[in-house]
This record gives sequence, structure tokens and C-alpha cells, in this order.
Amino acid sequence: SSREAAGVVVGLLEKVSEMLEESKDELGKLDSIAGDGDHGIGMANGSKAAAQAARAIADQGAGVATTLSAAGDAWSDRAGGTSGALWGSLLTAIGAALGNEEAPSLDSITDAVIAGRSAVQRLGGAQVGDKTMVDALVPLVDAFVSTDGDLKAKGEAAVAAGQAGAESTVQLVAKLGRARPLGEKSLGTPDPGAVSLVRAVKVVVEQI
Ligand code: ADP
Ligand code: MG
Ligand code: MG
Repeated sequence: SSREAAGVVVGLLEKVSEMLEESKDELGKLDSIAGDGDHGIGMANGSKAAAQAARAIADQGAGVATTLSAAGDAWSDRAGGTSGALWGSLLTAIGAALGNEEAPSLDSITDAVIAGRSAVQRLGGAQVGDKTMVDALVPLVDAFVSTDGDLKAKGEAAVAAGQAGAESTVQLVAKLGRARPLGEKSLGTPDPGAVSLVRAVKVVVEQI
């Protein structure tokens, strides 16, 4: 059921939050090269708040859509920054596509990851090549959709494609966001938001 799936989602958010807490300093250092250095703290705070909000509402019997919407709102509120707002809308859009009625299926999860990508691109306006999390998210979702197999096979292909996308940002100059004024300095370093996105998806896929 969607209520059972909400319990699974809570566990996944808790794992992602643990990983981001451990990655806090490293992600902060990456963001300090051409940004303002707050990406680690923002992701750690946002994901922690999201996991807590998800646990609270799922324990009351909420379905996946309601649980992910609460998580998205909490992430956006507590992370601050551009990536917090983008992660908030990513989670909310995935939840809305999954709904509160049916248990998630391979088809509905596929629709949901496409909806999540659209939400991030609609809100942030970034395209591939702008040196943002979109450089990881677009190939990641493409690979998920186009790979034949079960959820695990699709997820593993998605992570591999996302890693290649994040790696591709090393050679790019940032054109958007806080990193833009210092864009030239970003050459030679991967985009922090692309790196953290792929790590978070990897944690999720490892639980499947
Ligand atoms: P801020 O830039 O507000 O300090 P963070 O440091 O938490 O927020 O996040 C920075 C990351 O946000 C970047 O590395 C990039 O991946 C992502 N980002 C910034 N602007 C955009 C955008 N317009 N679209 C998509 N991602 C973006
Ligand atoms: Mg920052
Ligand atoms: Mg900031």
C-alpha cells in the first residue's frame, strides 16, 4: 500500500540524511571553491529535517505523496539556499506522481523520477552544461527510463550515468546560482550539487 511505501521512504530519507551528515565538510569545501561554502551544512540540515518530518507524518498513517510533500517542505525550509528549494520541489514532485492510493510500481516510479527532474528544471531553469545538479540529474533519469530490467538494475544504471554526469562538471564553468560570479574558479572542481545528488541516489539504490 501507499502507507507501507511511506514507511520505506522514511527509512530511505534517514539513510540519506546520515550520509549527508558524514559528507558535510567535504561538500562544504567543494562549495567554497566557487560558491559560498554552505552546501554541506545545507544538505545535512535539510535532509535531517526532511527525514524527521516524514517520520512524523508517516507514523500518523500518511501515504507516499503526503509524506514526501512534508519532507520536501521541511527540506526547503531548513536547508536554506538554492539547493534546498530544488530538493524540496524534487521530493514533492516525486510524491505527487506516486500519489497516496496505490503502492508504487516500476511504471509509477519511472513517471515519478521524470516528474522530479521536470520540477527541478522548471524551478531552477538550468540546462545540461550550466554546471549544476541538473548535469547529474538529466543523464541519471534518462538511464533509469531507458534501462531494461527491475528496479535495482534501473537504479544502478541511473547511478552510473549520474556519476558520469557529475564528473563531466569538472571541466565546466558555472553559469548559474551563487557560483556564477566566481564561475571561472569552478573549472577543475565538480559541481557540489551534482556530487551530492548522485551520492544521495546511490544510498537509495543500495537499499533496494
Ligand atoms: P546556494 O548556492 O544558495 O549557497 P547550495 O550551496 O546549497 O546553495 O547549493 C549549490 C548547488 O545548487 C550548486 O552546486 C548547484 O548544483 C545547485 N544549483 C544552483 N543553482 C541552480 C539552478 N538554477 N538549477 C539547478 N541547480 C542549481
Ligand atoms: Mg552554497
Ligand atoms: Mg548559500
